[in-house]
Amino acid sequence: PGHGHEHKRLPYEELQAILLETPSADRASEWSKYYTSGPHLAGQNLSQAEWTRDRWEQWGVKSDIVAYDTYINYPLDHRLAMLQKQTASNGQKSDAWEVKFEATLTEDALEDDPTTQLKNSIPTFHGYSANGNVTGSFVYVNYGTYWDFEDLLRANISLEGKIAIARYGGIFRGLKLKRAEELGMIGCVLYSDPGDDGDITEEKGHKTYPNGPARNPSSVQRGSVQYLSIGPGDPTTPGYPSKPGAPRQPVEGVLTSIPSLPISYAEALPILKALNGHGPQAKSLNEYWTRNTGLGYKGVDYNIGPSPDHLVLNLVNEQNYTITPLWDVIGIINGTIPDEVVVVGNHRDAWVIGGAGDPNSGSAVLNEVIRSFGQALEQGWKPLRTIVFASWDGEEYGLVGSTEWVEEYLPWVSAVNVAYVNVDVGVRSPTFSASAAPLLHSLLHEVTALVPSPNQTIEGQTVRDLWNGHIRTMGSGSDFTAFQDYAGVSSLDMGFGGPDEEAPVYHYHSNYDSYWWQSVYGDPGFLYHKAMAQVLGLTVAKLADMPLLPLNATAYAVALDEYVEKIESKLTSSDTKPSTTAEIFEFRARGAKKELVGDRDAFQRSLNQLHETIGEMKSVAVKLDEIASKLAKQAEQHIPWWHWVKKLKLFHRIRSVNTKYKNIERAFLYPGGLDGRSWFKHVVFAPGIWTGYAGAVFPGLVESMDNNNFTNAMKWVGIIDSCIKRATETMH
Ligand code: GLU
Ligand code: CA
Ligand code: ZN
Ligand code: ZN
Repeated sequence: PGHGHEHKRLPYEELQAILLETPSADRASEWSKYYTSGPHLAGQNLSQAEWTRDRWEQWGVKSDIVAYDTYINYPLDHRLAMLQKQTASNGQKSDAWEVKFEATLTEDALEDDPTTQLKNSIPTFHGYSANGNVTGSFVYVNYGTYWDFEDLLRANISLEGKIAIARYGGIFRGLKLKRAEELGMIGCVLYSDPGDDGDITEEKGHKTYPNGPARNPSSVQRGSVQYLSIGPGDPTTPGYPSKPGAPRQPVEGVLTSIPSLPISYAEALPILKALNGHGPQAKSLNEYWTRNTGLGYKGVDYNIGPSPDHLVLNLVNEQNYTITPLWDVIGIINGTIPDEVVVVGNHRDAWVIGGAGDPNSGSAVLNEVIRSFGQALEQGWKPLRTIVFASWDGEEYGLVGSTEWVEEYLPWVSAVNVAYVNVDVGVRSPTFSASAAPLLHSLLHEVTALVPSPNQTIEGQTVRDLWNGHIRTMGSGSDFTAFQDYAGVSSLDMGFGGPDEEAPVYHYHSNYDSYWWQSVYGDPGFLYHKAMAQVLGLTVAKLADMPLLPLNATAYAVALDEYVEKIESKLTSSDTKPSTTAEIFEFRARGAKKELVGDRDAFQRSLNQLHETIGEMKSVAVKLDEIASKLAKQAEQHIPWWHWVKKLKLFHRIRSVNTKYKNIERAFLYPGGLDGRSWFKHVVFAPGIWTGYAGAVFPGLVESMDNNNFTNAMKWVGIIDSCIKRATETMH
């Protein structure tokens, strides 16, 4: 496309108009319907990969499938039963176990929702879970966080040899199993407690799906239980790509060894009720054990247990582990500048036939963005920078497709990639939500203000007007992780998926994350899909087509200073009342202090050094941003671009500034990686070691503090200090 027009350059305003006008709600709905019409589990979605490639090609974007041979599991069989030994009338316990409750481990087929009636639904299971057949008494472990287990240890609850029953929520599910396993538990059952659905519950008078917005009682959350310890990606090839014939590392100690199963609250009920009267009640521990307990009205007293010896669970998990291809679809629009590349990605694989929210709302949005760029290509547009589009496979198991790709192309990614933009769940509620590296914050505020909100109760209001503007730090849980934490590429992740007290309950990783749910409850009319495509399109356009990269260096310095202040306040205040989930985990991490190592005061003083270094970084960053905005104005005056490109001097100055921006994030990579998880190279951002999804800032330093090891904390002050200095040099 565009042949014969190459000498022309579409003015940015025209590109922007195309990207605002082209995305269509009906088209997004069509793509959503396509992706959610059949199973597309990781490694079992070649037809969807090919379809995606063909659509992108049809819209004028050169596309290919990149395959990896990866180690993953598929479900064979499972069982969860509660067994009991009966007491005979003569008072003697019989020897025979009787089945008191046999879980179906299935989600109900619903008349209204056609997806749920399909015969080929994917069983309920956990990615990277352990094979096993275990029987034992069971213990209710609340959310199963590290701190919940600390509470159980303090209360002297016997855990060894028992099966944990934990509710979903708060932290990444794999970390629940990790701590359970460390404490000698032999299996783990995870269920979705409706108490975590806020006000939209049956108890509070709402009808359950499909008749209303509350959780369907039979809904089950599938999901990966990888440990996040060696990092994401194929667990047998940490740090290098899973190409055919690649050497493989053993998975012992890397994947969990205790079997697990996810269940619904309908099937958790009999198990939790059976604990009534056994062991202390949750509320006798502390307030964190009574937050959002939502089954009291169904007769659950939330006793911790353990269940008596004559009342046990039998948990069977049978998985087929195999090495099988995954397929990333990679599309490319070549830019004029060969060594500045923007990557934008979404995963395609889903745990269920549907996946209308996760991930295919994002897939539909990405398709609309590519189709829109295709329109621009037809009008002879060629971006300044190269744009790479990715439809990742295997995200659900552990960000496998994206991580293997980054590991394969690391030298190139590291040399050219200016930013990575991720959309996973593009739409599941009307609330916009984002996490991003500080360099990208101002861009997000800018583009959201250019897109009309589907909510026009106040005429003319934009996505920005209805968003609180808060941007979370980068944690993990989606495909930006390898870019941000391993390659040091400034990344952002966004979608209409923020917490919304009034929004219908989202059935995450369940059969009810279906096209029907999306079109009736999630996004009727697919208007938020359209808005998301507009936001994504403009984000990519600005990154790819503004002469000056729309990154803000000052914001990085300001953020770093705030992170250090946060650490200082952590050192001094011990009892500020936490309220948000993130704060609660932060707060609770301070309990259970280990023995003090090193000099706490010396550590505290060393933080002054960080402030000083950040101060220098800030003054250089402010200058860089000033130069950039001056150059941007000059470049604007020289648009159309064949004018400014001829102005070689200006062009070279712009290039040099952009190179500086590109390299700032790289400066924060520490080749040795974080303590005990060396795959993670970024010293500012990482998934929290016991949270997974939520990001930790200065992870090496904060973990040392939590371990009361101030010698190690000071080592990290030194590492961070030299990274900040390197970032400052980069900007000089
Ligand atoms: N989005 C996936 C999940 O939260 C990511 C899995 C992973 O990070 O391993 O389940
Ligand atoms: Ca690998
Ligand atoms: Zn996802
Ligand atoms: Zn998911």
